[in-house]
Formats: sequence, C-alpha cells, structure tokens
Amino acid sequence: MLIVMTAHAGKAEIDNVVRVVETLGFRAHVMPGASRTAIGVTGNQGAVDLSHFENLPGVSEAIRVTKPYKLISLDLKADRTVVDLGDGARIGDGSLAIVAGPCAIENSKQAFAIADVVQRSGAKFFRGGAFKPRTSPYAFSGLGEAALKILADIRKEFGLKIVSEALDDTNLDLVEKYADMIQIGARNMQNFTLLRRVGRSKLPVLLKRGMAATLEEWLLAAEYIMAEGNYNIVLCERGVRTFAQHTRNTLDLAAVPAVRKLSHLPVIVDAAHGTGRSYMVTPLARAGVAVGADGLMIEVHGRPEEALSDGAQSLMFDEYEQMVREVRQIHDVIARNGAV
Ligand code: PEP
Ligand code: MN
Repeated sequence: MLIVMTAHAGKAEIDNVVRVVETLGFRAHVMPGASRTAIGVTGNQGAVDLSHFENLPGVSEAIRVTKPYKLISLDLKADRTVVDLGDGARIGDGSLAIVAGPCAIENSKQAFAIADVVQRSGAKFFRGGAFKPRTSPYAFSGLGEAALKILADIRKEFGLKIVSEALDDTNLDLVEKYADMIQIGARNMQNFTLLRRVGRSKLPVLLKRGMAATLEEWLLAAEYIMAEGNYNIVLCERGVRTFAQHTRNTLDLAAVPAVRKLSHLPVIVDAAHGTGRSYMVTPLARAGVAVGADGLMIEVHGRPEEALSDGAQSLMFDEYEQMVREVRQIHDVIARNGAV
C-alpha cells in the first residue's frame, strides 16, 4: 500500500501515519518528494484496510499497489532518486556518472596508474574487485582485504569514490569498512539473504542485473534492498546470456528506458561485461548514453593483455580517454534536449 500525503502535510502528520503503520505491525518507508511525501507500507501479507489511513490528518489518499514492487516504483516516488556519495559524486542527477577501473585490484602500482587516468578523465567513481566471482575455482579470485586497503589509499590520493563487490556476508563487512558503494554482482542478484543484508547497510548499492534475470526479477531484487530501508540503489545493466557468440553477453539497452519508465532508481550501463570485447566497449558505451543511462561502468587496464581478469574487455588508457570524450559529447546533446 501507498499513502500519499497532502502537499502541506508536516512532520507531525507524517510521524503520526508512520506510528499507525507500525502499530499495525508493518513497516513505513517515508519518501519525501518535491511536491509531496509518499509513504510506502511493506510487511503486510494480504490487503490492508485503507480506512485505517484515509481519514488521518495530512493524508491525501491511500492506494492499494497491485504491481509486484512497491518501493522502487515511480508510483511511490515521482522524483528520480539521486544517489549522492558526497564531494560532487552523484548518480541520477542528470550528470553522466562514470565508474571506471580495473576488473580486479592486482597490486598497488597497477591500481594507482589506472586511478590516475580515471581521475584525470573527470570520472568520480573508481571500481576494482577485491573479491572476484570467477567461473573457474583456479582463476585469480582477488586480493581480498589487501585490495580494499589499496582502494582506500586511492580514495585518499585521488578523491575518487570507491565501488567494490561483496560476494557474501563476511566480505561485505570488509567492503563496508573500506568502500563507498557496495557492488552486488550479476551472480548474486538473487542472493536474497545478501540483498537483505545490504538493505541494512548505510552504504549505497550498485545492483547488477543477473545474467538471466527479467526486468521484473531485477527490480524485485532492488525491492528487497529497499524493503530493508536502504533507498540508495543504482541499477546496472550488464548484459544477459543469449545464443549470441559474437559478444560475451547481449547488452540489453532497451532495459534502460524500460527501467526509467517504471522506477525512480538511476540506471547505468556496463559496456565492459555487456560486450566482453574491448573493440565493442566504446560503441556500446556511446549507445548506452544515447538511450538515457545515468552513467557507465567501464573496465580499464594499463596492460590488458596481462590483466588477471577480464583483460579482453578492458580499455587501454588512450582508448578510455577517447571514449570518455565521446560519451560526454553525446550526453551533452541528450541533456540539452531534456531527454535525461
Ligand atoms: C565485475 O563487475 O567485475 C563483475 C564480476 O561483473 P558481473 O557481476 O556483471 O559479471
Ligand atoms: Mn570484470
């Protein structure tokens, strides 16, 4: 259920609605908006009697939600969510957010050289895996906490915000300690205990689409996180598995407008995992911006041929710099036309 407050409802009236929701044993999610506040109600198994709320002071209307998701929906919150990590690092505010870095942190020299290029490009977010989900148990699976320490040093040196993946509850505690944003990868998109756990984190979450997930499953994964009280979520389209062999995954760019039609959450495009081949990354990054993504995720490496993971889809420094110049131009055109 969704409770829409009147435009002039004040804090006392909102608090009162929250109290009634909680007295009934449900959870209230207060979503302030530019023109009015809405309150999402979760925790109810069946339909809630709307008459509990309709006559409370400051309530404009109580609406039954028939869609499977409630909190991620534009019905609840018409204003787009801006995930703000501070120091001008924002996703969803109409700027083009660039999250770039190596697939995995390999050592501090490698990571610092990449961070230097990323920072000089004007990007505000640095990505780098400390815990890597690898298809083979024998492949490099990340440096763990040592990588997180390097990432924290990079934040200090370059002022970049750190995005890193957590694979389970234990390494999530560590990622929370060192990073600014928690990545939940494609393979964990439906790890419901992990989603609930990040839902209780103070850090924003970058939620990648599962490689076989429908739009609805992806949005419901975000709903899991929001239902626990963490509203700072960025969705990331990273391609899905199809019969195609010319590309690692099929980057589903139609997902961007589809998400934006249903949800207030920002959505970015991962042109690296979405293609798996470096020569495709720039064209698909351009396209991602053109379809209205709030940002891009890109893998960059000083020596892709020697990378310990995902070298084939990593841009070299000059390729990355050129790509950033191009996508910024496209973004300027899109933004000027008011499309994002
Ligand atoms: C990654 O970002 O390095 C990664 C493993 O991505 P995905 O979960 O999309 O495969
Ligand atoms: Mn990778």
